[in-house]
Amino acid sequence: MSPSLITVSYLGAAALFILALGGLSTNVTARRGNLFGIIGMIIAVVVTIAAFVTAHHEVLIGIMIVGGVIGFVLSRRVQMTQMPELVAILHSLVGLAAVLIGFANFMDPTIQYTGVEKTIHEIEVYIGIAIGALTFTGSVVAYGKLSGMIGGQPMLLPARHWLNLAMFIGVIVIAVEFVGTADHDQAIMLLLAMTVIALLFGIHMVAAIGGADMPVVISMLNSYSGWAAAATGFMLSNDLLIVTGALVGSSGAILSYIMCRAMNRHFISVIAGGFGTSGGTSTGGASIEGEVQTIDIPAMAELLNNAKEIMVVPGYGMATAQAQHAIAEITKTLIGKGINVRFGIHPVAGRMPGHMNVLLAEAKVPYDIVFEMDEINDDFPNIDVSIVVGANDTVNPLAQEDADSPIAGMPVLEVWKGKTTVVLKRGMAAGYAGVDNPLFVKENTRMLFGDAKETLDALAQAI
Ligand code: NDP
Repeated sequence: MSPSLITVSYLGAAALFILALGGLSTNVTARRGNLFGIIGMIIAVVVTIAAFVTAHHEVLIGIMIVGGVIGFVLSRRVQMTQMPELVAILHSLVGLAAVLIGFANFMDPTIQYTGVEKTIHEIEVYIGIAIGALTFTGSVVAYGKLSGMIGGQPMLLPARHWLNLAMFIGVIVIAVEFVGTADHDQAIMLLLAMTVIALLFGIHMVAAIGGADMPVVISMLNSYSGWAAAATGFMLSNDLLIVTGALVGSSGAILSYIMCRAMNRHFISVIAGGFGTSGGTSTGGASIEGEVQTIDIPAMAELLNNAKEIMVVPGYGMATAQAQHAIAEITKTLIGKGINVRFGIHPVAGRMPGHMNVLLAEAKVPYDIVFEMDEINDDFPNIDVSIVVGANDTVNPLAQEDADSPIAGMPVLEVWKGKTTVVLKRGMAAGYAGVDNPLFVKENTRMLFGDAKETLDALAQAI
């Protein structure tokens, strides 16, 4: 394949990836964005194989078929609630690939550089493996936390910041040794030593992050996986991989920034670990004082039928209950009765960025009644009924009231400022951050206990 054809194809694929990102920025254009991404990736893979793979095509195609089938089956089987875990584990694969390619590239006897080029190549290999290794283990731990295999509580080792600093210095010192040595075997040993440190760093970094700060970790690992791919692109002198990695890396970094802002956290503080963990008094078992008032389906139906302004606030419980279709149906009925129904979405509701938007889009809730927190938070005093469907941390007033709380300072949806709030959940359990919620005992709050889908199905009949 001629170099100019490769360049043109790669440019086309890169343009499609940019269009894909643009498309994914709104629900309306997301499908089209996805399609651009798919076409871009097909071009990238086909051109790369045709241009650079000169032997053993059967092995490559065989492996691609096996990987493709596994990916296809997994993505068909995965539930919407498991998407965050799937994303985390896929990031880990990008990290692992960067590590393996880094070693393979460094050990390839056909790649011979001298002078400055050799140094630059060694730095590319080193950085690629370092980012890849910490992305790999960090993503595996994130997967464990999101799937519940590992507890959400942060692992706080004594002097953990010193430990991080020691590991960081270790990686720098080894880098200097690695670039300085002419002995290939010693260089491999140094690479291995750095890899072990980076693997441990990835585990420690994510394990130390508390429940409420996990959204930042997910987007940060997304970003790291992009930078690992970009470093691999430099290593392999593959322009498209550099561009693609940079796109993923920078979009992940922007997402991390947005998540940090949504949670009122400093990015550096989160990645330094141990936040969401300030050891506040209100974590876990601390009980809230006050009386819980319940409501039943007929009373709730009457409340809704008499309301003029309704705000639905969905959270992770809506995803686990798969209650999005039921709430969509209720919304349709209420709008048909002339009631103004809107949705208020917290940026970190659910377990992945945009989780609620995806579910509501799937249930065909019109986009123009779905609002971001910043757009509607001031409207709550005018709301007659807020329906909180499986949300908890994102509507917790302690974020504003208790400076010691692990979620202190996180902006929340101020549902309690409305006339009546009805909270749909199964019991009094805390949310992901493990913080009790005084909203449940406020005077204008009513609890409607039960699985959100069953409750909403019954409510749909009643209204
Ligand atoms: P929470 O995780 O705070 O609370 C969800 C609530 O849903 C629980 O209290 C639970 O109570 C209830 N619930 C669970 N299953 C059902 C069901 N079947 N029917 C009805 N209710 C149910 O949810 P939020 O969305 O408010 O907050 C998200 C949290 O997750 C934040 O702390 C955020 O930081 C964190 N997070 C977010 C990520 C993201 O990217 N968006 C990523 C990782 C973490 P009960 O058991 O009593 O029913």
